[in-house]
Amino acid sequence: MSSLYAWQLKDWALLASYFKQQRIPQALLLAGQGGLGQESLARVFAQALLCHQRQANEQACGQCQACLLFNADTHPDFFVVAPEEGVKTISVDTMRNLMARLTLKPQYSAHRVVLIQPADAMNANAYNAFLKYLEEPTETHGFIASD
Ligand SMILES: [Zn+2]
Repeated sequence: MSSLYAWQLKDWALLASYFKQQRIPQALLLAGQGGLGQESLARVFAQALLCHQRQANEQACGQCQACLLFNADTHPDFFVVAPEEGVKTISVDTMRNLMARLTLKPQYSAHRVVLIQPADAMNANAYNAFLKYLEEPTETHGFIASD
């Protein structure tokens, strides 16, 4: 289970406020210097989105079925997009593949969450396909991109 670093508590407070307001942004970009744990923060938020019984601090419970699946890297509504082995970029084919999978309904949770890691690995075509997808009305997906 991912956890927050001390310097991320302020960032977490902002992310947690989205739950309190019941206004989860469709896409978030977690940007910052390398080595500060953006991926870890993204995973904490993703798990909270998928958890069936968030705690009072809006973090995932770690114990419900959704959390168990998430921690085992087998949650059907959580997608990680990363460069394929041996290449440094995320291609448009990878993004199209993802979008085809996202046309299906969420299987297990109210949300589906996509983590694009690292966001700047998307090449221009992949990035354009992603932006176009975001412009279309969709169901409950959250995209979290981190670098
Ligand atoms: Zn949970």
